[in-house]
Amino acid sequence: MSDCLFCGIAAAQIPATIVAANPRTMAFRDINPQAPVHVLVIPREHYASLADLAAADAGLLAEVVAHAHEVAVAEGIAGDGYRIVVNTGANAGQTVGHVHAHVLGGRPMLWPPG
Ligand code: 5GP
Ligand code: ZN
Repeated sequence: MSDCLFCGIAAAQIPATIVAANPRTMAFRDINPQAPVHVLVIPREHYASLADLAAADAGLLAEVVAHAHEVAVAEGIAGDGYRIVVNTGANAGQTVGHVHAHVLGGRPMLWPPG
């Protein structure tokens, strides 16, 4: 999508701090980190939400989750534990309409998140 922020990052038209790039997914640092490690993992292809991605390509969804775990290992937070969050829709606070998994870690995190 031409007017999508994360499509722009995937196409290298919008700058981001890239952590890892795979053939179908990529990871970059959140611009407003909520934890010492806060990385976003996206499919390169545009899907508006988890619901759309799950319905269209469950294999790609699995690649996003696997990539999120690889990021946690590479960032050194897998041992102590980390959180993957996929905000979906208004009540969850999704603000960017290109599905993304937050990888959060480096500090203890409260549960429930509120
Ligand atoms: P959501 O609220 O949709 O689950 O998460 C969107 C995330 O994207 C937020 O954590 C926000 O800080 C991040 N974000 C918004 N704009 C940009 C940007 O231009 N670059 C990067 N790297 N992250 C962004
Ligand atoms: Zn997009």
